[in-house]
Parts: sequence; structure tokens; C-alpha cells
Amino acid sequence: MNFNSILQEVFQEAKTFPVIGNVASTIPELSTVNPDKFGIHLTTIDGEDFGIGDSNEKFSIQSVSKALTVAMAFTFLDEKIWERVGVEPSGNPFNSLVQLEYEKGIPRNPFINAGALVIADMLVSKLSNPKEDFLGFIRMISGCNTIDFNLKVAQSEKETGFRNAALAHFLKSFGNINNDVETVLDFYFHQCSLEMTCQELAHSFFFFANEGKTRYGQQILTKSQVKRLNALMQTCGFYDESGEFTYKVGLPGKSGIGGGIAALYPKNFVVATWSPRLNEKGNSELGMSALELLTTKTGMSIF
Ligand code: GLN
Repeated sequence: MNFNSILQEVFQEAKTFPVIGNVASTIPELSTVNPDKFGIHLTTIDGEDFGIGDSNEKFSIQSVSKALTVAMAFTFLDEKIWERVGVEPSGNPFNSLVQLEYEKGIPRNPFINAGALVIADMLVSKLSNPKEDFLGFIRMISGCNTIDFNLKVAQSEKETGFRNAALAHFLKSFGNINNDVETVLDFYFHQCSLEMTCQELAHSFFFFANEGKTRYGQQILTKSQVKRLNALMQTCGFYDESGEFTYKVGLPGKSGIGGGIAALYPKNFVVATWSPRLNEKGNSELGMSALELLTTKTGMSIF
């Protein structure tokens, strides 16, 4: 497969599509980003790299980080995670509160904000220096020691993250947050503020495509654990647009309101896209279209 020419084709064709959506507005610091940035990076399972456009510019990975926190929590807690978070699609927006009341404080899955906050609470309980240790994990799996939080973005979300604060307090009222709410929110805002390039993001997600082993040879999770997390990304990674992403793209993936998407074809490749314009579900419109073109042109999808 000549990924160089395929990425060129995908990139050029996607750029002719109508411009849809706007940059995230819920976090003021994210709304300053140039909406027309567009990059794609693909890493094959043999470790070959192909990038195009703005694939080497850092952006805020936001909810893409939820796949990485759940992976880290899985390394410690394995199936015990599911005592406090479910594995079902929610069919609701990522920041919704409604189902929590009926489900007695057990979030539907780890990718909606409620679920990610419970995972953040697990990591805060487990790690001696939660933010530093999580950053260390990210640097290890990505092989990149310069990856860091963007403190301005974390602070901006702290000042405006009222829904997340509400969710965390609500979860605490059900006994599903064990630590101090402010500490959990602080961890969550930092994980979301992580900045990466498309290349760094593809490298970080490599182990999901490689049966649990990073690009640098460390076995993070077992084959079976990775199969499970990929299944969760497939069914829940795009919130109430997960069906649409599965239908059009046919790969497990995770999106974020910074406009990033990481997706993978097990045992074949990992791909990351970045385009900050979001559709009404909070997913990158152009990123989704580019991935649809990629799997259509290559025939490489899990279906
Ligand atoms: N930090 C953002 C929030 O909690 C992440 C949401 C997202 O990327 N979908 O609102």
C-alpha cells in the first residue's frame, strides 16, 4: 500500500469539501485556534511514518486523552474498572448529566465526561503524583519526552468547566468519586489539556493497534485488554455519533473537541487527524471525512 500517495489524495480531496462547523467555544482558550488547520499522520504497524499538512503542529487533544487514561487505569485495575463505569454507548452528548440519576451514578462508559471523571478519580487514588505520573506514562508510550500539559488551556477550562464540576459533584453524591472533587477536576482538566502533534498522537495510540505493545516494544496491556478497549472506542468513542463514525469509517477511534481524532486498524496502522472545526456533536467534521476517504480508498476497515 502506498500510503504516501493515498494521504496526498485524501488530503487534497477532503480540502474541497464544504467548510462546516466552528472551533470549540466551551473552553475560551481553544477558541483562539486557527479553524483551518488540517493535518493527518499515519503510522504503519512496521513503524513507518507518513504525515501531511499541519501534522507536526501541537494541538489540545482534549477527550482523545480519555482512551489513554482508561488504558492506564486498566493496567492497574483490569476488570475492576467496570464496577464503577459501564461499557454501553450512551446515545447522549459527551457532557450530559441526564442518565446518571437513573443509573445511580454509574456512567454509561469511560468516554463520556462522567465516565472519564470516574477514571480520573481511580488514577488520583492509585498514583502517588497523579499528574506527573500520568504525563510519564504518556511520554513512555509515545516515545516523546517533550509532550506536556498546556497550563493555559487547563486553567481556561477550570474557570469555565461548570458542567464538569456539576458532574463530579453529582457522581460524588452517589459515592462514585472517592477523592476531593477539586483534585479530580484538576487532574481531568490537565489530562484534557495535553498537547500533541498528529504524529505524537499516532505514536501514543500505537499499542492499541499492536496487541498492547508500544512502538518502542513495551507491553502495556494484554491482547485481550486491548481488544476490549478497541471495542469500547468503536461503540462509544464518538458519543452520540459513534454509530455514524462506525458506519462511515469502520475503525475504532476517539475524538476530542480540540479537533483531533485518533483511529486505528488493528495489526495494520494508527492514524491521527487534526481539524479544529467541530460538527454539532463536538467531533471534527473534516477529520471524520478524511478518515472516511482513507478507509474507502484503501479498503482497510475492520468491517
Ligand atoms: N475538556 C473537555 C470537556 O470536558 C473535553 C470534551 C471533549 O473533548 N469532547 O468538556
